[in-house]
Amino acid sequence: MTGTLFPPEFLFADRFFCAYVVALAFILGSVLGSFLNCMAWRAVHGGSVRKGRSRCTHCGHILSAAELVPVFSYLLLRGRCRHCGERVSPRYMLTELSLGLFFAAAVLRFGVSAEALRAAGLACILLSLSLIDLDSYRIPNHFIAAALLWWTVFLFFAPAGRGLSFWHRAGAALFEGVAGGAAVGGGMLLISLLFDRLTGKESLGGGDIKLFFAAGLYLGPAAGLLCVILSCVFGLVFALLRRQQRIPFGPAISSALLLCLLFGRQVVIWYMNLL
Ligand SMILES: [Zn+2]
Repeated sequence: MTGTLFPPEFLFADRFFCAYVVALAFILGSVLGSFLNCMAWRAVHGGSVRKGRSRCTHCGHILSAAELVPVFSYLLLRGRCRHCGERVSPRYMLTELSLGLFFAAAVLRFGVSAEALRAAGLACILLSLSLIDLDSYRIPNHFIAAALLWWTVFLFFAPAGRGLSFWHRAGAALFEGVAGGAAVGGGMLLISLLFDRLTGKESLGGGDIKLFFAAGLYLGPAAGLLCVILSCVFGLVFALLRRQQRIPFGPAISSALLLCLLFGRQVVIWYMNLL
C-alpha cells in the first residue's frame, strides 16, 4: 500500500523505536476505546453524545481524571466505583484493552502507514456498532455508511507495484472490493433467506447482512469467505457464553473482520499452497 511512513521492517530494525511506536499505538487505541464506549453508552441509554462528564452509572459520582485512565483505572480500583464500591462492568476495560491491542497489532503488521490507519479507523467504527448491537440488537445504518465511506477513501492508497498507474491500482482495488462485497453480502443474504424459509424464523438481521457486505468490500472474496467462517465460529462461542435467546451477531462479524484484515491474506495464501 502506498502512503507508508515506516514499513514494519523499519520498525523491527530498532527494538526501542518499535516498542515506542507500539506503545503509542496502544495508548491511542485504548483512549479512543474509552471515548467510543462512552459514546455508545449514551447513544443507547440517552444523554448527549458530546456534552456531560462521565459518571458512575450506579451512584452518579462524577469520575475524576485519575478514574478515567483507560484499562489502568479499572485495574487499580479492582473493577469497583471508588465512591460507592459498586462493581463496574469489565466490558469498559475489555473494550479499551482490545482496541489498544488492535492498534498495536495493526502497527506491527502494517507499519506506520495508510493501511494501519485504514485498519484502525475501521476498528473504531466496528467497536462502536458492536457495543450498540450488544445493548440494542440493532446496527444503525450510519455505521455501515461510515465503513463504506472509509473504504472508499483508502481506494486511493491501493497497493503499489507492477508499474501500474494510480487509476489502475484504484480500479483493481475497487473491483476486488465490490466482488468481495457482492460475494459475501449476496451469499449471506441468500443463505439467510433460505434459512428463514426453512425454519420460519429470522436468522440474520438486515444490519448483519450489510455488515457482511462491508466485510467483503474490505477483504475481497477469498479472505471474505474466511471471515464468514470465523464469524459463525465466534457467533457460536458467543451464543454459548451469553445463553440468551437472541444473539447480537455484530460483535462476532466485527471481530472476525478485524482478524481477517490483519491475517486473512496470509491464511488464504497458506491454504492455497496446501492444495
Ligand atoms: Zn458509584
